[in-house]
Amino acid sequence: MPAPRFCPQCGGAGLQLRLPVGETHERLLCERCGYIHYSNPKIIAGCIIEQAGQYLLCQRAIAPRPGTWTLPAGFMESGETTEQAALRETWEESGVRAKIVSPYSIFSVPQISEVYIIFRAQALEVTRDFGPETLACRFFAPADIPWESIYYPAIRQILERYIQEREAGIYGIYMGNDATGTLHFMR
Ligand code: ZN
Repeated sequence: MPAPRFCPQCGGAGLQLRLPVGETHERLLCERCGYIHYSNPKIIAGCIIEQAGQYLLCQRAIAPRPGTWTLPAGFMESGETTEQAALRETWEESGVRAKIVSPYSIFSVPQISEVYIIFRAQALEVTRDFGPETLACRFFAPADIPWESIYYPAIRQILERYIQEREAGIYGIYMGNDATGTLHFMR
């Protein structure tokens, strides 16, 4: 996230990196009015939706990596729950109305201060009426998934795991970062 050049509170240009009293992280502080700029991770919520052994993927129309295929997902808005955000993004990017089944993958990407929360979801209605952030959108059988054009390795891992777990008939919940983590199974 780019740091502001001017104080959002007073418009002053004297933002300095300082350690506020009693805090553990340096923040941009306004020397004029005392404003403290907090920069916290962004949450991206999305869904993995499987229907009759096929998986819903959207082809990105926008940067980063336009043309690659990914799960419907996007930045959570203020005032939403993560589930609402995941379902709204799924609707906007794929035209699929869905309902949440369970959490499926919670992974952090600390290098870029992002947290992904991916839910298992079930399609209720497939309208094919998707928004401008998507070039194309369809359900793929595993053998037809464009594996070499998946947006991001962590998304590919989610798909690979789901395909394996569906065959085994038991679904785990992943927690970790985008490279390593642990799978949790509950009885
Ligand atoms: Zn200020």
